[in-house]
Amino acid sequence: MKIEKPYICDVQIIKSESGEIGVVQASQQIGFPVKRLYFLHNVKEGSIRGAHAHRELRQCMIAMKGSFIVELEGGGEKYTFDLKSPSQALIIPPGYWRNLSQFTENAICAVLASDEFDEKDYIRNYDEFLAFQSNPKKEVSGVPFIDFSRQYKDIKFHLDAAYERTMTSNHYICGKELEQFEINFAAASHAKYCIGVANGLDAITLTLEAWGIDKPEMEVICATNSFVATALGVSKAGATPVLVEADERTYNISPEAILKAITPHTKAIALTHLYGQPADMDAILNIAKNHGLKVFEDSAQAHLATYKNQPCGSIGDAAGFSFYPTKNLGAYGDGGAITTNDKDLAAKLKKLRSYGSTIKYHHELLGTNSRLDELQAAFLSEKLKNLPELTDARRELANIYLQELSGMKGIILPFVPEWANPVWHVFAIRVLDGQRENLMKYFDEKKIGYNVHYPVPIHLQECYTSLGYKEGDFPIAEQSAKELLSLPLDAYHTEEEILYVVGAIKEFFKVAQSEYVQKYAINN
Ligand SMILES: *Cc1c(COP(=O)(O)O)cnc(C)c1O
Repeated sequence: MKIEKPYICDVQIIKSESGEIGVVQASQQIGFPVKRLYFLHNVKEGSIRGAHAHRELRQCMIAMKGSFIVELEGGGEKYTFDLKSPSQALIIPPGYWRNLSQFTENAICAVLASDEFDEKDYIRNYDEFLAFQSNPKKEVSGVPFIDFSRQYKDIKFHLDAAYERTMTSNHYICGKELEQFEINFAAASHAKYCIGVANGLDAITLTLEAWGIDKPEMEVICATNSFVATALGVSKAGATPVLVEADERTYNISPEAILKAITPHTKAIALTHLYGQPADMDAILNIAKNHGLKVFEDSAQAHLATYKNQPCGSIGDAAGFSFYPTKNLGAYGDGGAITTNDKDLAAKLKKLRSYGSTIKYHHELLGTNSRLDELQAAFLSEKLKNLPELTDARRELANIYLQELSGMKGIILPFVPEWANPVWHVFAIRVLDGQRENLMKYFDEKKIGYNVHYPVPIHLQECYTSLGYKEGDFPIAEQSAKELLSLPLDAYHTEEEILYVVGAIKEFFKVAQSEYVQKYAINN
């Protein structure tokens, strides 16, 4: 847990003949919505107030009259503030033990607080505070696959501000929030244009439609081990997905397989940067160039991932992103975006997403309704601000898995090619010797969340029987679907939680050949 520093901000004092008015802007200066005001007055000479810390409450203190000393301790630092004028406001983030002393006679200390009174938020015992401070190695007794409430708590006041901003804007579709988010996200992805849409699936469909790849005889190559949306986007556009094999080491689309699948009907390659790991782009771009194909990057799992230092979403002709809540950049509902450097494509997509129109009630194209709404755009802009930091946190946790599990028999760790700086949307290991289901049961017992991305390759999905594929067509994808297991990995997991998972895996394999497997083998 990173602890923010306390700081003093100036109170704007407006003077007039009749006196003075002090003003602090809550949203800009205090940085949290004010829910409560209380004040200390008539403090007896020599008294010390405070002697507690808050877990989450944020406060702003002002000496309205007289003066007093505030001593703060937190994050390994000690601070002393001498509050003696109503022209200064002290902002105190959560996690600080405080003592207020040396009140002058008639001193009044006003406190603006970010929340209602809640006794549970107080730490009133200094030893308990020290324990809280050192981020106590809390006994881990389970690890959720993902727990959204952690981030929500962390960024609630930014989201509240975004909500407020949007609700009072009188504009809920295609307004300033979307426009700003599109600028922010294009910049983050190093692309010239970003077009917000309703979801990641539409990002694929609309781009192919805009390219005119929309007839059944037109083929688009995608990997069979991606999420179904990659192929479905092709089908929804009206074209035909041609499924190909994955690379055995990276699980990303295999350039050799692409080459073999090219026919005179091939129009595009819709690759996926699977699990947040960039695909082999130079090889793919080269094939596309030689065969006159469009390259679409399905970047739904790869926000901020880089290929040779270039962000996914700026490498191909266009890219699709999803902001589904579990994605590395997730909304509080559905959302998606397309990024591209192609000005004409961007302009066309802006029409397509909104009834094929740029001028109200004039419809040039047979468009659809696929818009990223203002609230989601506002939330996403807030979340985008600390995405680099959260991505680094994911990388650090992934490194713990990679180091702690390295060389372990019975599993294969993710392979990171030298071109890739992955963002670990998914941390998938291979569990060999048919042990995956047993390990999953062991995880259940240990209360460890897990997932399988994905249990059935697209070519074996019921909805695609018409494509005529059969079992055995793509042995790598089929075998990995039986062995892949996604471990918990989210920016808000703690190191202790990741080590708990590591411990469970080591324990499982130590006993794997003896009692544990037998216990479940009997049940099977
Ligand atoms: C999530 C995802 C999508 C679809 O995104 P939605 O927003 O759910 O429509 C597409 N492709 C891949 C690879 C995904 O992981």
